Amino acid sequence: MTTVDDLPIRDDLRGKSPYGAPQLDVAVRLNTNENSYAVPDAVVDEIAKAVQAELRDLNRYPDRDAVALRTDLADYLGHGLTTANVWAANGSNEVQQQLLQAFGGPGRTALGFGPSYSMHPLLAAGTGTRWIGALRDPDFGLTPGAAVAQLEQHRPDLVFLCSPNNPTGTALDPSVIDAVLGVATGMVLVDEAYFEFARPGTPSALELLPNHPRLVVTRTMSKAFGFAGGRLGYLAADPAVVDAVQLVRLPYHLSSLTQAAARAAVAQRDALLAAVEAIKEQRDRIVSTLRSRGVRVADSDANFVLFEAGADQKVVWQAFLDRGVLIRDVGLAGWLRVTAGTETETSAFLTAAEEILS
Ligand code: PMP
Repeated sequence: MTTVDDLPIRDDLRGKSPYGAPQLDVAVRLNTNENSYAVPDAVVDEIAKAVQAELRDLNRYPDRDAVALRTDLADYLGHGLTTANVWAANGSNEVQQQLLQAFGGPGRTALGFGPSYSMHPLLAAGTGTRWIGALRDPDFGLTPGAAVAQLEQHRPDLVFLCSPNNPTGTALDPSVIDAVLGVATGMVLVDEAYFEFARPGTPSALELLPNHPRLVVTRTMSKAFGFAGGRLGYLAADPAVVDAVQLVRLPYHLSSLTQAAARAAVAQRDALLAAVEAIKEQRDRIVSTLRSRGVRVADSDANFVLFEAGADQKVVWQAFLDRGVLIRDVGLAGWLRVTAGTETETSAFLTAAEEILS
């Protein structure tokens, strides 16, 4: 049988495995930070109508620039942003890939502070951008001084910040983003995939856009909006950044069905985002319950919680799975990540945790 390695594949891809958490058919799936709440019926109807209205025109290519959708997203973000500041693609992963295509590439570097979102280095690899794995503090924090020192040493073409950070859950202190913007010589990307779940008072990097044409904030509809299956991510930045990504995007990358469904979902945002508060409650319940049992837990501004497994995390992960609860081993020795689910799912996790972690 032919294997990948028998093909004339790029040397740097040889022996690599594709990204992806196991998609297992178990009762309680808390491993990919999705929104556990199904799309409400009224929103299903609105999305169905919007998609239906596109079907007769599927012989035509979609709006290549997704202008109407970008206008709706700018309106959702506020902060005085307009269509020209916003770009959208199939998930924020695609947005970040386009940023790397435009600002990274062979001979260029991107730097991120681990542990962080493991797709950032993989997107860099896929675009031939050399990845520099800078580090957070041992307690997963990042101080302005530590960030600046590592940036001055490496002077990357792109810096990836993630706030709230996946997998640790904590939002960055704004002073870190300020400090990074002060010394960065290239582009600064702040991945705010989980921003809607942040604790009250957490500022968005969107506030910094007016004075920083090299700052890019990426967001997604996959988490708070409960639209992961719809695949829609977006960025906000100076209009020049939007011009730059248009040089590398595929023509017609966002199907007319995606654009119509996403517009309907944004229009129904009050109904969709209603689940955010319930999810935050379950997130806080996980944090406080585990802490009350003496388990170390990172502060969370996201819809997930990173906790200390107390033993080999692979063994503990399996023990949860054996009890019908799928959580995530992010490859961080001694730690595991769980998504805050519905109240019932969260209870199932906490019951299993009581048995396993005590
Ligand atoms: N950024 C972060 C930090 C994430 O955790 C994820 C999803 N796991 C994404 C981006 C990508 O999300 P999507 O492509 O669905 O928008």
